Amino acid sequence: PQVANQIAAGEVVERPSSAVKELVENSLDAGATKIIVRITGAGKKSIVIEDDGSGMSAADAELALQRHATSKIETSEDLHHIASHGFRGEALPSIASVSRFRMQTALAGSGEGVEVRVDGGGATEVRPTAPRRGTRIEVLDLFLNTPARLNFMRTDKTEEASIIEAFRSLALANPSVAMQLELDGRTRFDFAPQDERARVVAIMGNDFADNSIDMAIEHEGMQISGHLGLPTFHHRDSTRMLFMINGRVIRDKQLIAAVRAGYRDVMFHDRYPVAVMKIEIDPADVDVNVHPSKREVRFRSPQTVRAGVVSCIRAAIDQFGR
Ligand code: ADP
Ligand code: MG
Repeated sequence: PQVANQIAAGEVVERPSSAVKELVENSLDAGATKIIVRITGAGKKSIVIEDDGSGMSAADAELALQRHATSKIETSEDLHHIASHGFRGEALPSIASVSRFRMQTALAGSGEGVEVRVDGGGATEVRPTAPRRGTRIEVLDLFLNTPARLNFMRTDKTEEASIIEAFRSLALANPSVAMQLELDGRTRFDFAPQDERARVVAIMGNDFADNSIDMAIEHEGMQISGHLGLPTFHHRDSTRMLFMINGRVIRDKQLIAAVRAGYRDVMFHDRYPVAVMKIEIDPADVDVNVHPSKREVRFRSPQTVRAGVVSCIRAAIDQFGR
């Protein structure tokens, strides 16, 4: 299992930011209302995540470190309507196989807590501790035993930027959750629970607030909404386009193309719109189990989604055309 975990780790945790994403998603799945992320050394030294979610019993905490042990789906039928971020049961064992991993957790309301430790995928040590609210996970010396991966790491600046990007996306998709990011002891973001528009402004900046319009349409059973930057606010690449499908932040070339197609006449060929788009779609119409990183999706009817996005953008552009 050690080797299998390390292979899975190559797909699930490419770099520190992927570990941050997986751990924050777990906290969200656990119903956390507050999530604190502390990073040192661009995540290579340590990643600490604290949440006030459901926590785990001692038995579940130990189980969570086993490959494919997910508490989130029970039957293969469940795979067709996944509502949680996680479902593959790979993140924790993968991360623990390539780091020094520590987890403290307690089941909500329980009088006892548990600490689980794994060093580089070795034996799982479990011991009782004082109870706590939620879960605290510490990932130290990521990739300590996979030198090839460590050598692939970019500069601290680049890895940190990737962590910030991942955190921003998750914060954008979960405005009602208090989220804090600390880099080497300095607070980078500290978001109170807020409504969606306020979180968008907090993340994208006041400039975006002043130079964007809200959009919302219904298309063939999908709810498509979000905020679209005015043409003067376009960006040199597509990194300022964020897509959330049923609350999951994803990357998708077809969606980027659809936004640009919607922009058609007001689009400079080498510029990209700035946009935050949320698509609520029947979970049966979208497959999120395409890649271990869960950053890609496959739509049952890509044409319908494309048409919806295009009309949403057109409707918005009509508004600011006036
Ligand atoms: P997945 O999220 O795909 O189920 P993970 O490896 O990410 O797999 O997590 C394994 C299991 O550990 C989860 O199914 C969940 O039961 C539990 N778990 C992980 N992180 C947390 C957390 N922060 N709070 C409560 N339970 C957690
Ligand atoms: Mg998970």
